[in-house]
Amino acid sequence: MSKTQPSEAIEAALAAGQRVFGENRVQEAQGRWTDRRDGIEGLELRLIGPLQSNKAADAVALFDIIETLDRPKLADALAAAGLRVGKPVRVLIQVNTGAEPQKAGILPGETVELVEYARATGLIVEGLMCIPPAEESPGPHFALLHKIARRCGLETLSMGMSGDFETAIRFGATHVRVGSSLFGERKGPETPSRD
Ligand SMILES: *Cc1c(COP(=O)(O)O)cnc(C)c1O
Repeated sequence: MSKTQPSEAIEAALAAGQRVFGENRVQEAQGRWTDRRDGIEGLELRLIGPLQSNKAADAVALFDIIETLDRPKLADALAAAGLRVGKPVRVLIQVNTGAEPQKAGILPGETVELVEYARATGLIVEGLMCIPPAEESPGPHFALLHKIARRCGLETLSMGMSGDFETAIRFGATHVRVGSSLFGERKGPETPSRD
């Protein structure tokens, strides 16, 4: 998770061989990666923050995978953006496993339907992503995500952050989103969006 990190931190991570980076804001990521990405072999950029439909084209242009698809309207916008530029659009569906009213993500009971909807628009649905409620033990949320993924025939599970990635791996995570434990505490206003 390279959000909010200064150039020196990004360069150090690249020099150490890191190639997969997560960002949570389209505009911030454009600033960090648009000029840098060419010439970095194997670089993979993943959007893990909320996306508005009117930024879908920008997101499709920059990111290799969008992890936060959570509604039909956004699926339509992403599919249309992909068609316009002739780029296959790879996505994960974000699931609100704790059914928290303030949190993004489709409800667990509506996930299968959204997966089918997204596939029908032509998006490449690779898996599921979740951010468990901050005040709860994450294990049951990771188990639920795994169960829904199996039901949909999906392989990729993006779950676990610095505080709980070991638990997430025990529950089958294929991708962990680790920021502060690699880079140190983030400076600036952004806090981990597990809230
Ligand atoms: C920032 C962020 C992370 C990384 O959080 P850390 O606790 O720093 O590892 C993971 N997932 C999402 C969605 C984030 O926004």
